[in-house]
Amino acid sequence: MVTIKNTVQKCNRCKKKSVYHRIYSGEYLCGECFKGSIIEKTRKTISSYNMMEHGDILAVAVSGGKDSLSLLDVLQRHSSKHGEKIIVITVDEGIQEYRDEAVKLSSDMVSNMGLRQEIVSFKSLFGFTLDEALDLRKDQKISACSICGILRRRAIDLAAKKVGADVVATGHNLDDFIQTYFINLTNGDMGRLEFLSPFFESQTDLPRRVKPFIEIYEEEIAFYAYLSGIPFQNIPCPYMNEGIRTEIRSFLNKLERRHPGIKYNTYSTALKLLSSTQPSRKRRKCENCGYPSSNNICLSCKTIQMIKNNRSVN
Ligand code: SF4
Ligand code: ZN
Repeated sequence: MVTIKNTVQKCNRCKKKSVYHRIYSGEYLCGECFKGSIIEKTRKTISSYNMMEHGDILAVAVSGGKDSLSLLDVLQRHSSKHGEKIIVITVDEGIQEYRDEAVKLSSDMVSNMGLRQEIVSFKSLFGFTLDEALDLRKDQKISACSICGILRRRAIDLAAKKVGADVVATGHNLDDFIQTYFINLTNGDMGRLEFLSPFFESQTDLPRRVKPFIEIYEEEIAFYAYLSGIPFQNIPCPYMNEGIRTEIRSFLNKLERRHPGIKYNTYSTALKLLSSTQPSRKRRKCENCGYPSSNNICLSCKTIQMIKNNRSVN
């Protein structure tokens, strides 16, 4: 478990007053050493998976939440030493009274950093906003997050292609990883487990996908954003409680409070299981869009078609 509290303990690294107790490792850290530990952990993850190389065009997917804005901050520091060229990609799903603020927060930070930002929207790419798609939904078994996730993934791919990216980095953290792992286990969706990997190469001309924050707890990223003075969106998405993610999140948080480090152990075990059990699935091209797919028609095309069919009968 990780706890944010004032304490009289000294930082284990520099002996200044600590502001943070990392319970799973026993460390006490001051603000600067805490931030340094996050930057260092990210660097190690990037290096151990060979996520990026000097000269790469690195597209960072930034939504305006704490994870993606902190990732941008950390990757900009990384790229100034390692020579990647950063371009920011932002997807506007079209969620009223939620996404506008996030897009603005991301644009403000990007312009302060002097970076290029490519904003794409569901409306311009697919012809409908997420709100419109959900209003038209017939099959209530499909959660908002499933539709949103499938289409956001495609939107990021399209934007990354447009900016000529070699690699796309997303802000998924350790909590996201194990939550999604549990969700996929509970609904038997083994096919999508491969997308969980910290590093995913599609064997096509699509850029590789990397998750540099995959070994960092969500709480620690929030604290990094707070200490760095990064303004991020706090209000939750109106659809976030549709699926079971919120329940799984609180279950895992409860376990972590009682058994510090259990999330990290679960992550390590899941990663080993993934690498030993993932079948080498035959990839083909979607007959409709040409993107890689494990079926004749890819999930994005199926989802877009389902929404268009719903619209035509309404
Ligand atoms: Fe999309 Fe679900 Fe996230 Fe909302 S909570 S932005 S619907 S994935
Ligand atoms: Zn397709």
